[in-house]
Amino acid sequence: MKYSEFFIPTVKDVPSDAEIISHKLMIKSGMIKQSSAGIYSWLPLGLKVLKNIEQIVREEQDNAGANEMLMPTIQSADLWIKSGRYDDYGKEMLRINDRSGREMLYGPTNEELITDIFQTYITSYRELPKNLYHIQWKFRDELRPRFGVMRGREFLMKDNYSFDLNEEGAKISYNKMFKAYIKTFLRMGLTPISLRAETGPIGGNLSHEFQILANTGESTLYYDKELESLDTESLDPDKLQSYYAAVDDQHDENNCPIAKENLKISKGIEVGHVFYFGTKYSEKLNAYVQDKDGKRVAVHMGSYGIGVSRLVGALIEANHDEKGIKWPKSVAPFKLSILNLMPDDQNCNTKSLEYYSYFMDENIETLYDDRICSIGKKLSDNDLIGTPVQIIIGKRDLAAGIIEIKDRILNKTEKIKIDEVKKVALKKLTINAF
Ligand code: ATP
Ligand code: MG
Repeated sequence: MKYSEFFIPTVKDVPSDAEIISHKLMIKSGMIKQSSAGIYSWLPLGLKVLKNIEQIVREEQDNAGANEMLMPTIQSADLWIKSGRYDDYGKEMLRINDRSGREMLYGPTNEELITDIFQTYITSYRELPKNLYHIQWKFRDELRPRFGVMRGREFLMKDNYSFDLNEEGAKISYNKMFKAYIKTFLRMGLTPISLRAETGPIGGNLSHEFQILANTGESTLYYDKELESLDTESLDPDKLQSYYAAVDDQHDENNCPIAKENLKISKGIEVGHVFYFGTKYSEKLNAYVQDKDGKRVAVHMGSYGIGVSRLVGALIEANHDEKGIKWPKSVAPFKLSILNLMPDDQNCNTKSLEYYSYFMDENIETLYDDRICSIGKKLSDNDLIGTPVQIIIGKRDLAAGIIEIKDRILNKTEKIKIDEVKKVALKKLTINAF
């Protein structure tokens, strides 16, 4: 993509209600535009990141055996009346009447709808277990939408639902998802900390929250330091769940089960939540199957959510400096920028275009900054939007056979001989997954 053809409306001033760094940087770098409180348009750069995150989430769901589908945003009130949540949900639910006066709602979550789909088609234990997911916009009329996309009213969530014959099966499904969640966040270069959580209005017996570490996070976490150095190859959910981890109001210094030298204290942001809630919805919504002995039993269910749009903000909270965003490579909107500092110069143009077509052919998402603007603006814009690897082509360096390569994550610039540029850049783009 050529920068001159791309729509990146970077701005200098941010509105005063943008209190936290990710909100400020998303507005400054032209990723989002607020449309009304807690509701945003995703501009091209923001949408690219959202889609990259969505894709990692999708791949790990698919790897764990979940089936992708898509349920509507607008639901009928009927199933919610049956489950008893139509009244319980209160003002957070956006209620709508259609032209014939029928009660509808904009889905804040999908337990009711998915249970109804399940019970329409599945009648035997032989068809279990099943795990279904979708990545769809949700609406919750939050009391205080704030922090940009972190607490929106309209937000993108991946939610899935597992169906098992009994508690034992449900625990296996729960642990599969638990593992998929840890893998998902690790692939984004984040440090996930899983904590035992309250089940809240969804109800049920077992629940974990997933927080990611960021200095600017809202929660204070106390946890075993082992949780910071997980090995992706050998993740054992039972073992992970046995490590100590607590948020500040659960943590009691005098009754902490682990030694002080193993205890870490950091700030975190909640990005995912998983629940096992037994037969709470299946009983109310008639999701029964026949077991081996021909007996009708209510299925055991779990639900699992990841805040896909919240992750965009959380990733920025975890990866930024005073110049802007430092995207981990796995989610970066562009992996590489080519900064042509002298678009009026024939040699700079020829070299830039050569690299642009080379890296595009290598399937590397590249932003070619061909704009006629000051060198300072070019450098600061590319730092602001956070491209992890940047090739900087200047007239004088080029004449001397040299080109600069910048590693945005380490904030280090090296001068490289022209014939090594492709090799060095490719290496930087492929080493250490993030
Ligand atoms: P919270 O306690 O933050 O309100 P929740 O318990 O209501 O979260 P869930 O219903 O478990 O959240 O939703 C799953 C995930 O969806 C959360 O972990 C979070 O990442 C995301 N999420 C929830 N509410 C919002 C929101 N208003 N804006 C953006 N993301 C959200
Ligand atoms: Mg909530």
